[in-house]
Amino acid sequence: MKFKQNVIIMFNSTCQNILSMWEQACQNIILVEYEPECTSGFDGTHSLESGHYYGRSLDFSLKEVPFELRWPLKHQAQDLLGADYLVLLEAGKNHYHIQRQKDSF
Ligand SMILES: [Zn+2]
Repeated sequence: MKFKQNVIIMFNSTCQNILSMWEQACQNIILVEYEPECTSGFDGTHSLESGHYYGRSLDFSLKEVPFELRWPLKHQAQDLLGADYLVLLEAGKNHYHIQRQKDSF
């Protein structure tokens, strides 16, 4: 896992789970050698209610993911993380956003 410069991660169990499942999903769908990049955690500017400010959300880079694997990767990550989490492909922002659902605690 690579981290974009200045990314701040809250190392709670939620973020650790997202990081390890995202890595697993990338290995399953892309290549074992593919190194995903986390582009945002606690840092950055997000909507007011965003889970980023509560250590519940992480973003991952989309740009090196081959186009035809973008949706399969999203679905794989969603399957691995289960219903307590939400995986979004935010093409306009060039990243995947993953959050733990508010009602899952
Ligand atoms: Zn996000």
